[in-house]
Amino acid sequence: MRVRLVDDRPPRASASYVLYWMIAARRTRASFALQRAREWAQALRLPLLVLEPLRAGYRWAADRHHAFVIQGMHDQAARLGALGVRYLPYVEPEPGAGQGLLAALAERAALVVTDDSPMFFLPRMIAAAGRRLGCRLEAIDGNGLLPLAATDRVFTRAHSFRAFLQKTLPEHLERVPAPDPLAGYELGAAKVPRAVLERWPMARASQLRDPGPLLATLPIDHAPAVVPLRGGEGAGLRRLSAFLDEGLDRYATARNHPDEDAGSGLSPYLHFGQVSVHGILHGLAQREGWTPASLGPPQGGAREGYWGMEPAAEAFLDELVTWREIGLNACAHQPHPERFESLPAWARATMAKHERDPRPYLVDLDALQAARSPDPLWNAAQRQLLVEGRIHNYLRMLWGKKIYEWSASGAEALERMLVLNDRWAVDGRDPNSTSGITWVLGRYDRAWGPERPIFGTLRTMTSESTRRKLRLRAYLERYGADQTVQTRLAL
Ligand SMILES: Cc1cc2nc3c(=O)[nH]c(=O)nc-3n(C[C@H](O)[C@H](O)[C@H](O)COP(=O)(O)OP(=O)(O)OC[C@H]3O[C@@H](n4cnc5c(N)ncnc54)[C@H](O)[C@@H]3O)c2cc1C
Repeated sequence: MRVRLVDDRPPRASASYVLYWMIAARRTRASFALQRAREWAQALRLPLLVLEPLRAGYRWAADRHHAFVIQGMHDQAARLGALGVRYLPYVEPEPGAGQGLLAALAERAALVVTDDSPMFFLPRMIAAAGRRLGCRLEAIDGNGLLPLAATDRVFTRAHSFRAFLQKTLPEHLERVPAPDPLAGYELGAAKVPRAVLERWPMARASQLRDPGPLLATLPIDHAPAVVPLRGGEGAGLRRLSAFLDEGLDRYATARNHPDEDAGSGLSPYLHFGQVSVHGILHGLAQREGWTPASLGPPQGGAREGYWGMEPAAEAFLDELVTWREIGLNACAHQPHPERFESLPAWARATMAKHERDPRPYLVDLDALQAARSPDPLWNAAQRQLLVEGRIHNYLRMLWGKKIYEWSASGAEALERMLVLNDRWAVDGRDPNSTSGITWVLGRYDRAWGPERPIFGTLRTMTSESTRRKLRLRAYLERYGADQTVQTRLAL
């Protein structure tokens, strides 16, 4: 169910290696795709070759995202090098320069294994490779606990998706990826023709260690500067253990308070596949002494009581599995979930009805981007996004609701949220970006009464009630000062 044959011809008889084209699961542990490539290599007695490319020419290519990926490449180079697996980290110097590299390597491959993903430009890229490579191409789905192919139904409410998960997950939890798919690797280092390496030079170890000078030469957006958070599988796994050891216990009670910063902080690592949902579940299971046998009976979509773990762990899993995977479901099975027309009819109707309601302010995109709105709390959240590439989870919802309030229409608000989030958030361009942003405009939600100006029956959120309900004094102190952002980003 996790293997999709993009090109189903048999493996090439005379070949030099098995090629793993690492494009979404950018890690070496708990990866179904790497495991599949290793299994093929073992069966054919051929060395494994790993190509990890990073393109320059996609929308939103920027320093902070590039750095996060390159820091991951540094980890891959160290780990695969130590295991004797040949690894090719390719950072494209200009848009289009990498064209032909995959095909040149595939010419000598028995087959190509890659990551399946419904995210961003990846489906188009995989489909194009399937048309061009002329060899077997397998795309392996390691996105969620639920395989994407387990259903083609599109879920419109978390409750019904949760009910579906509760019934179907047990069989999928029996087939988890090997924690270390490369354990005992002895197939040697693949040989790559010199001409290929001359035409497409790989990133050097020094560039992976310190990507700054390399980033400066790339024709990408330099305004979203590198963030303090380090990328890579190693940093992701350290974040996970710190969260399990020190953060999880207070997750359920403190997560909404900006001053507590009690989220796991794992979303950028999940986005780039540097940690996996299976790896996180494995860590949780060890901590909680949990096995799939601990699962309770389906709870008809109720949030508590299914996993058989402590309440904090169950709350965390509901975000990680229900909410993360409902977004994957939409991206995989709903045409264009990022478009305004894909929103529920009731939400579009209520926004249309209130489109002419006077707004207290209309704020243009440049002012929003520069954190110059009339609302200090919103500005603080936007500054956190500009400087750190993230917004505290609760404030992210408020951030979206205020953008709607300050835009001329729902469609304009959607476009602005996508631009701001995808340009600046390290975890942006994700299925969760689309689901979170469209949630602001009614997806996965219901109509709320009484009907109000501007929002109609969309759920409202206000800065005043947020300030009343949540602890955020330290947050405002930290992100309240204007100059930090203006000088650091030269906006
Ligand atoms: C307007 C808006 C935009 C958003 N944009 C993004 C985005 O670009 N990328 C992104 O990953 N998430 C996005 N989210 C969802 C959510 O805010 C983040 O996933 C979460 O804040 C990440 O912090 P964390 O890793 O500490 O989460 P934790 O609370 O520790 O949760 C663990 C994991 O569960 C998943 N998760 C948590 N909350 C949600 C949620 N509400 N919806 C879907 N999955 C969730 C994430 O993968 C997260 O890493 C957005 C939400 C909104 C309202």
